[in-house]
Amino acid sequence: MSYPVLIAAELKGLLEPDQFAGLDVTWLPTDRPIGKGDWVAIVPLLSRWVGGTELKHLPKLRIVANCAVGYDNVDVVAAEMRKVIVTNTPDVLTDATADLTWTLILACARRIVEAIDLVRGGQWGGWHPEQLLGLELRGRTLGLFGAGRIGQAVGRRALPFGLRIIYAARTPKPEFERDTGAVRVDWARLLDESDILSLHAPSTPETKGMVNRDTLVRMKPGAILVNTARGDLIREEALAIALEQGRLGAAGLDVYTDEPAIHARLRAAPRTVLLPHIGSATHDTRRKMAAIAVANVQAILKGEPPLTPVFR
Ligand code: NAP
Repeated sequence: MSYPVLIAAELKGLLEPDQFAGLDVTWLPTDRPIGKGDWVAIVPLLSRWVGGTELKHLPKLRIVANCAVGYDNVDVVAAEMRKVIVTNTPDVLTDATADLTWTLILACARRIVEAIDLVRGGQWGGWHPEQLLGLELRGRTLGLFGAGRIGQAVGRRALPFGLRIIYAARTPKPEFERDTGAVRVDWARLLDESDILSLHAPSTPETKGMVNRDTLVRMKPGAILVNTARGDLIREEALAIALEQGRLGAAGLDVYTDEPAIHARLRAAPRTVLLPHIGSATHDTRRKMAAIAVANVQAILKGEPPLTPVFR
């Protein structure tokens, strides 16, 4: 017996045939809507909204196996009401995303985009003692908003750079504090004291728009803002204005509110490092993400518990 399942077509190259044994796969390209049908599982990318209407079209659905750790693209309440399990892909992408966060921190602190432009544009006139001076990291403060898997991994990488760590999260992280000397603070103090503020909380009604005109004003002059979490944590126009006015030192972003569109003013703003949502984009990680998503489907269809449900 084989089960009819929908899998994002873009994942095909990351999966081995034995991973979808027993599944009758319909490969669904991202630009195609979910039609009505008897599929029992769906493996969507984070760019696909799976809400009440989509779930209604899939009356036999048993699982949404999201191929991402964030699941803000899934209406989890609607899924719960229909007794559809929602799973994500935690842990396997933590290192890749933490590494990319550090790529952004270093690129912002040392003005790498401006430096590359100078060289590529043929404008470099030779070594100059005051050329492209950046932010020395040692002794500065790294603020983490969200200190779960990725936030903590970013914090642990900060020690050799000599940064002091502060963090805001809903619950204390004693092991992280013991290992890194990190201090838990509230959001206001995080804004006041961070030389580098890095966002690692999910997109939720509470976190959306947390970085806005009012909160940007509270940040230290010249501070660096990094976001590898979700775009809608930041009000993009307010960020663009803070960069234009030179109040903020730099912004390193991997994620945006309305992907793949980027607010025109933000795209044009100075001192940005703008990446196309590649936090988890390594060969190893993307294969592992696809494998976990499909393994969750296989588990549910065998009557076993899901490996990585979003709610335990
Ligand atoms: P996680 O382990 O669940 O950590 C989330 C952290 O956010 C936790 O520390 C949590 O606090 C905190 N948090 C949640 N709501 C908060 C609030 N209202 N105020 C303060 N802190 C709050 O998740 P993760 O695996 O680290 O992933 C974090 C996010 O990164 C994901 O949700 C995803 O959106 C994003 N991500 C992006 C990429 C990319 O490609 N750029 C890749 C992977 C992940 P508690 O621990 O106290 O609950």
